[in-house]
Amino acid sequence: MSEPGKESAAIVLDCHDHGESDQIVTFYCRDIGRMTGIAKGAKRSQKRFVNKLELFSLLFIRYTEPRRGNLVFIVEAELGESFIHLRQSLPLYMAATVMRELVLVATLDLDGDDGLFSLLQWGLQSLDTGRPAMAVLALFQIKFFEQIGYQPNLSSCLRCNQPFGAAQEYGFDSRAGGIVCGACQEERGQSPVMPLSRGTVRILVSAQNQPLNRLHRLSLSGAGLREALVLLYAYGRHLLQREICSLKLLSDSSWQGYGQGATRRRFTDIATPRCAQ
Ligand SMILES: [Zn+2]
Repeated sequence: MSEPGKESAAIVLDCHDHGESDQIVTFYCRDIGRMTGIAKGAKRSQKRFVNKLELFSLLFIRYTEPRRGNLVFIVEAELGESFIHLRQSLPLYMAATVMRELVLVATLDLDGDDGLFSLLQWGLQSLDTGRPAMAVLALFQIKFFEQIGYQPNLSSCLRCNQPFGAAQEYGFDSRAGGIVCGACQEERGQSPVMPLSRGTVRILVSAQNQPLNRLHRLSLSGAGLREALVLLYAYGRHLLQREICSLKLLSDSSWQGYGQGATRRRFTDIATPRCAQ
């Protein structure tokens, strides 16, 4: 690397052709956050960019800042990790796509957040090592909301402030972003809640409290995973004020893997009736 410029670790979130030979690439970078740049001649360059500017790849980029405009100039890129296994499995790839969409819609350009970079890297590595896609995605989301400053309140009832565990039944209010005890759910005039078992709350609280390298010790599967996915989908959609298209698509494609017979429904469908905007 002989040309001047700055360097950063960067994960590719988006990449598309620009003109005959250039590519426009959006990264999530360590230190810098979301950043978009132009890779001049990327489609012709065999050395500087070939097989590197792919979605989800972890790169080490060198770039220069423009005198005008927002696009940085990507001078060259070295491949850190291609996450090749997640590209060979549709469920893993789709789960990675959800992470990508959440990061793209919830961040601003050049608003660096090392925690979010580490979380995204953790999510991609977890998928790449073959961990169950939906469990990784649920754990990713619970940490993601915390990272962007909107950790759902799972420690006490939103309405009466009784600490979790004092009541037998709980639900989740996706609009207010927290749990509601059984007694408070019976009050009139309050927004509806979605059912949530105590066991699922405990696992999600554990996830909130664990560092990334210990998250895989949590067992999130079956009915608990389904509850978590419903809750997180509804909460994320309300928080971001938009449909999370990749998550909807993932739910549509994987719904046969959840539940039995009449109870078998897409987790996004379950969240939809009570949480429609
Ligand atoms: Zn209450």
